[in-house]
Amino acid sequence: MRINCPCCGERGLDEFVYHGDASVTRPDALAPDAMNDFVKYVYERTNTPGLHRELWFHAAGCHAWLVVTRGIATHAITSVELAREVARKRDLVTEENA
Ligand SMILES: [Zn+2]
Repeated sequence: MRINCPCCGERGLDEFVYHGDASVTRPDALAPDAMNDFVKYVYERTNTPGLHRELWFHAAGCHAWLVVTRGIATHAITSVELAREVARKRDLVTEENA
């Protein structure tokens, strides 16, 4: 598998480190119901077939955090985005809904 880093171009998988599911958001540790939120965050995953959003770190390259969308069955990568851009878009959506 090769990942097309937005900063460095296409690189081998050995340059990247997988850091988990990018579709979940870490709960607020100071929230009143934080324990239940963390149990759901850690243990309650759907693991459905199809496309999966994953967080990867380009450890042997530019040190960028990436959100990679990949088919679980085929390993085909459909998109690679900088995680900071994904977070920026998510924050804009959150602000618009507030
Ligand atoms: Zn890179």
